[in-house]
Amino acid sequence: MHPMVKPALRRGWRDLNTVQFGMAPAHALTLGPVDTATGSFLDLLDGTRGLDLLREEGRRMDLPDGHVDRLVERLGRAGLLDDARGGGPDAAALRDRQEVLDRLRPDLASLSLTTSAPGEALDRLAARRRLRVQVRGAGRVGAVLAALLSGAGVGEVDVRDGGLVEPGDVAPGGLSAESVGERRDEAARRAVRAASPDRPSRRRSRSPSEAGTPGLALVIIAARDDVCVHAPPASAADPLLASGTPHLYTGVVEATGVVGPLVLPGETGCAGCLQRARTDRDETWPRLVAQWQSGRRRPAQACDLALATAVAGLAAAHALTFLDGRLPSSAGARWEVSLPTLQWHSRPVWPHSACPCGASGEGAEKRKGEHTPEEGGSHATMAGQRQSRELRRTTVAARQAGTWRAHV
Ligand SMILES: [Zn+2]
Repeated sequence: MHPMVKPALRRGWRDLNTVQFGMAPAHALTLGPVDTATGSFLDLLDGTRGLDLLREEGRRMDLPDGHVDRLVERLGRAGLLDDARGGGPDAAALRDRQEVLDRLRPDLASLSLTTSAPGEALDRLAARRRLRVQVRGAGRVGAVLAALLSGAGVGEVDVRDGGLVEPGDVAPGGLSAESVGERRDEAARRAVRAASPDRPSRRRSRSPSEAGTPGLALVIIAARDDVCVHAPPASAADPLLASGTPHLYTGVVEATGVVGPLVLPGETGCAGCLQRARTDRDETWPRLVAQWQSGRRRPAQACDLALATAVAGLAAAHALTFLDGRLPSSAGARWEVSLPTLQWHSRPVWPHSACPCGASGEGAEKRKGEHTPEEGGSHATMAGQRQSRELRRTTVAARQAGTWRAHV
């Protein structure tokens, strides 16, 4: 082990013997008492020295016997340490790909803040390269989202959509002005490739039986049609529910951006649950949806460019949290934001007893109160406990569903 105090955390002394790691409350924590010699010693924990060398340096600085090991152990327990040589074989392989790491270094640093074990951040980043994700819908939201996932290191991002690129589809980071008139799926795939010039080579072509959903870590439904965003058709997700494929809804309807729900089949509420709950609350809901669906397509659908981009970014972040093995707050909830005030708020999507998806709601129930937006998570230990609960839940859910794994 070559211990390194996580370089992503800024360090500051609150007083002579209390050091604070990190600035933002979500991941900051304080350590004390720390004497002056130990404080200076912290500078040596930069990943360039192994433990033997560190013990030697400690002796040279007159630190008591065993002090270095205790300090490293204490920092490790607090989740403050990374290992410059840590991680599994995939991490080691990625470490050799300097050009990839250079590009993804800010993402790696960010992952180091949401993981606790030394070497875990690089493991997660390396694991992304093995994942397959499908994005359905390549408009202002979907194409940007697909490019973001690719840029963030997801190994294979498959975009599905039909038709040709229209001028209104053009968005920075997504479909380019040059692609107007081209096949939409091809243009979006090019955006995906451009976002990650160093991506792993695409896996060998699959047999026809593999052409469906198996092997997909996540499907993201980023419909271009605003009715499909507002009232996602439940039937479209039937094969995903049947195969146990997690899927995330996102899009823009009128001047409202939507992220969620992230559906974990058998655990959290699906589009069918959402539809039934809405009908329970308002019996005219199905009548309205039928009219919206049969209505003539209007010449211009509203989709604010900045809102669409924000939605794509947030949906990609929710997707990455899930792909990295954690549960984002969109699991069992629908986040919405509307122009012009742009206040995000979430509405729960409870499992509905009449929905054939059979969601148990266990996860969603447990999540209640754990993911309220007000929660600052300012105490690192609490954050750690929350992480382990989430991971445990993810593992349990993966076992129950049997066919999907968030973190391969
Ligand atoms: Zn359902």
